[in-house]
Amino acid sequence: MKISTKMVAAGLLSAGLMAPTAVIAQSGGSISLATGGTGGVYFPLGGAMAEAWTTEIDGLTVTAESTGASVVNVRLIQSGESELAMVQNDIANYAFNSDEMFSGDAALDNNLGMAMLYPELIQIVTLAESGIQSVSDMAGRSIAVGAPGSGTEANARQILSAFGISYGDISEQFLPFGEAVDALRDGRIDAAFLTAGIPTAAVIDLGATHNVSIVPIEPDKGQEIADMWPFYSTITIPAGTYSGVEQDLPTVTVMAMIVASADLEADVVERMLEVLYSDSTLERLCNTHVRGCDITLASAQEAMPIPLHPGAEAFYARN
Ligand code: GLU
Repeated sequence: MKISTKMVAAGLLSAGLMAPTAVIAQSGGSISLATGGTGGVYFPLGGAMAEAWTTEIDGLTVTAESTGASVVNVRLIQSGESELAMVQNDIANYAFNSDEMFSGDAALDNNLGMAMLYPELIQIVTLAESGIQSVSDMAGRSIAVGAPGSGTEANARQILSAFGISYGDISEQFLPFGEAVDALRDGRIDAAFLTAGIPTAAVIDLGATHNVSIVPIEPDKGQEIADMWPFYSTITIPAGTYSGVEQDLPTVTVMAMIVASADLEADVVERMLEVLYSDSTLERLCNTHVRGCDITLASAQEAMPIPLHPGAEAFYARN
């Protein structure tokens, strides 16, 4: 739904940003924040943000919805079914510019930048006994490539292709993180791709009962991947991230961000950012998941891959 200026008037008033005469009436409004699967990081962190916005902004209710994640989310924004979404920076950029999986589509230019959040690492998870030690070993195996319409799935395709592997060479399974981990546990698949903040709940769960092993992407290969698709950069999964992972492992990463619909009023977005970067919300996010501790005003615009929402522009101009 379209959010009117009136709706957040009471919130702006309580923040001392708006003269009382500007307040006409407070009407209720609810907006949807598209997140990801319940086994990921978008869902709990999105839930915590939604709670903060709902509590702090009078007249506004934000609901965090579980979805298939990034690719689905930018489409939900474009169609007006969601007003806010957590997405990967690579997917936001492809959507805005009709690139990669969006080529041939009209630009999904209702997606505007609100804030950069935290790194999302490409984690290729297998069990020690699978014998998969490098991406090349995945040919001929059954592999979970992420939920349909996830950013994970786009990353899985790109990374496999960098090793000369296509879906024709594997048995690809489109599974969200929770189901992928169940399938690994039951021996129905051999490995799973996850693009998510670390540690990821679904992998922690697996480590409680099984010997988790992460397939490395060596730095020279990682660099090659980053040269092909510039939203990747090389990074390390630190030893001890999951039980059974005893050494630092190289991989590649993208970034999580929040996008806001161009239909959202600028003053609503501005007020939301004010609440997001308040001490109490940052503390709430940091307590919800350790990646929430990465969310800072200082890094909010770093490597923003699409144009800012006018409300975000106004907020960053004065902060
Ligand atoms: N980055 C993932 C994706 O778009 C979702 C991560 C999460 O749910 O935390 O596919």
